[in-house]
Amino acid sequence: MYIKTISLLAAVSALALAQQPQDPDYAKAVKEWTTKPEFMTPLVDHLPKVASVPSPKDVLGYYVGAPKKLTHVADLLRYYRALASASKRVKILPAGQTDEGREQAVVVIADEDTIRNLDTYKGYLAKLADPRGLSDEQAKQIIAQAKPVYMFTGGLHSAETGPPEMLMELAYRLAVEESPLFDQIRRNLIVMITPAAEPDGRDRYVDWYYRHKLNEETEEDRVAGPPYWGKYIFHDNNRDINYSQVTMRNWLKFYLDWHPPIMHDLHESQPFLYTFSGQSPQNPTLDPILYGELPWISNFEMTKMIGYGMPGVWTHAFVDMWSPGYLGFMSSNHNGMLRMYETFGNGGANTMKRTITAPEGGGFPGAGSMTAREWYRPLPPYKEVVWSMRNNTNYMETGVLSALELTSGFAKTILQNFYDKSRNSIESGKKEAPFGYVLPAGQRDMTRLAFIVNILRLQGIEVGRATTEVKLKEGTFPAGSYIIKRDQPYGRLAKILLEKQNFPDANLRTYDDTAWTMGLMSHAQVEEIADKAVLDVPVQPIETLSIAGSVKGDGQLLAVLHNGANSLVTLRYRLKNVRFEAIEQPFKAGDTELPAGSLLIPSSAQARSEIEKLGLQAVALNSAPSVPKHAVDVPRLAVYSSWGNTQDVGWVRYAFDHFEVGYDLIYKERVRKGNLRDSYDVIVIPNQGRGSAKSIVFDVESKGKPLAYTKSPEFPSLGLYGESDDITGGMGLPGVVEFDKFVKDGGVLITLGGASYFPAEFGITQAVDAQRPTPQFYAPGPIVEAEILKSTHPIF
Ligand SMILES: [Zn+2]
Repeated sequence: MYIKTISLLAAVSALALAQQPQDPDYAKAVKEWTTKPEFMTPLVDHLPKVASVPSPKDVLGYYVGAPKKLTHVADLLRYYRALASASKRVKILPAGQTDEGREQAVVVIADEDTIRNLDTYKGYLAKLADPRGLSDEQAKQIIAQAKPVYMFTGGLHSAETGPPEMLMELAYRLAVEESPLFDQIRRNLIVMITPAAEPDGRDRYVDWYYRHKLNEETEEDRVAGPPYWGKYIFHDNNRDINYSQVTMRNWLKFYLDWHPPIMHDLHESQPFLYTFSGQSPQNPTLDPILYGELPWISNFEMTKMIGYGMPGVWTHAFVDMWSPGYLGFMSSNHNGMLRMYETFGNGGANTMKRTITAPEGGGFPGAGSMTAREWYRPLPPYKEVVWSMRNNTNYMETGVLSALELTSGFAKTILQNFYDKSRNSIESGKKEAPFGYVLPAGQRDMTRLAFIVNILRLQGIEVGRATTEVKLKEGTFPAGSYIIKRDQPYGRLAKILLEKQNFPDANLRTYDDTAWTMGLMSHAQVEEIADKAVLDVPVQPIETLSIAGSVKGDGQLLAVLHNGANSLVTLRYRLKNVRFEAIEQPFKAGDTELPAGSLLIPSSAQARSEIEKLGLQAVALNSAPSVPKHAVDVPRLAVYSSWGNTQDVGWVRYAFDHFEVGYDLIYKERVRKGNLRDSYDVIVIPNQGRGSAKSIVFDVESKGKPLAYTKSPEFPSLGLYGESDDITGGMGLPGVVEFDKFVKDGGVLITLGGASYFPAEFGITQAVDAQRPTPQFYAPGPIVEAEILKSTHPIF
């Protein structure tokens, strides 16, 4: 029955195609840029021409997929604005501003009537997302009127350049193509498009491409990418589980405003198109319906594309369903559905011969050669291929149009599933332990609790403050404790974030982090509650939580309790010019126990005010405690970064900036100048170089010409967070000598993670060696319990 409908659609589609005027130059150009006939399909081999509606070429001057053309963010938006002002089927919604102040927007495409009544459809989805108080019958009536939002995001990873280009052509086609298939998509779905998910990185990469990569002809010619994409964290913007980055936080806000049942994140890394089907290990807390939906759609896409003769479309053997930290998981985590592609990109827009050598399928054991036939890859990609941006565009666009074909044909099923998953999340919280979580009041450092509560709130999870003392089987908790009940729409997400992960099978590998338990990661007490009575605890809902600090008494000396709060370091930097001391042993001041490490500072209105603002606890004393103490000075601090591995340096920069720790970010240029000790007391080398000391020293390989990362009128997005006339070559041995001198002159060198191989292997620390685990050891992102045996050691 279904197949009949589709073939009928195809026949009518061909008829309509004949009637709608087409752009003959487009057909000619894309045929020429597509390197083999089997890389082209009837969905994308033509482009309708509509006098009143501009195509991407009408605005930008080039067709999507043209060799050597990439589009900056302002031009992406310029195109979408032109499209929206010419078509009543297109609308643009604001979505905030990025970390670097660029505009974030979402493009909406549907039929005219739907666009006119967008808020009504938004209201329907909000009801299905939170169906409390809705009977199944009422839900049925809403589903009968509602339409699913199918949201595309592309360009989260800036070197994956194709999706932001393809999405413009998709938007135009969806707006103008007249055929039963396109009518069905516009009538039954609301399509949303994020022009570039990481706009800052998009502009930086496009600048870099035009400056350094435009003339690459072979794989060997390809030079390194720019040292930065977004402001801080590069590729890890897809692992930003706590939405630390402003840009990603804005997408989450948009998501929770609109509730798209499907989010489809477009990446590039695999030949020729991998479509995510939700393989194991799977998070068992997510709804089983989701695990049916994912292969349902990906198998349809694979079937259609193989039907068009396209090789290299496969499912299954790449990313799994374990970590909830991917950006697009905001959808799965909130009872929707994350979909994902990896297509084949050349890191720019140049056509070149590519050799597929990777022996293993993305770290998935048993995946075998990428080009081998497997049950999930019945028509494998080629071992060698001349590949173009247009091939990439054809694959992505054919894939997403196939997904839109299926989902527009089954829009009511998508909505019913969305409602069922939302309702099941609430119901499972009433039936299955744990029924909730308690964050007890009165913990040593309440700012950690505030961190957890505010992230949960950001994720749309309801948190309440207990109005009375709470007595449960697990214990008695004071009034003011924070309660998360599981019988809420995002109760499953609360469980996923707060529970201890129980990895299902030691033989399974996961693509990403194995653990993320928020209480353990924040050193805060979080109690899992199996007592159903927690659901009835009276609470006041919390919007956001801020912890006010306090200063007791009015002596001339303030003792700030060392409770491990991160904001203690912020206090130090906010009172930069004030003398700080730390006590080395605990001391009892009146009835207040001052732990070792507590800070002594002269009392002032400013000090008192900062302590309160930062959520710290202090007591005023009339004289200093009679225990050993030492000065806590503000060191002159530098963070060393290579140019080729700024990813984890970015997390350290983010943490320092967030907690207001002052530092210089230095590169090989500064190190080679020497006299590091004259400028710095402490240098931190964050994890970089992938566990190789050599790569920290020699860094980006030189291909014989300098790679300048400098700002200029032509390339305004380059040269941020440091500038270099040539990022290649590393600090080299002269740099090692300077670090050695710095340490010998009494400087403190702190290395994190894999950077610790550097001082050990280059002899800067002769008494310390570094060993690597065996290659068989694989434990990405676990949470490990450790015991401190020598707590008086200066490091602790
Ligand atoms: Zn990616």
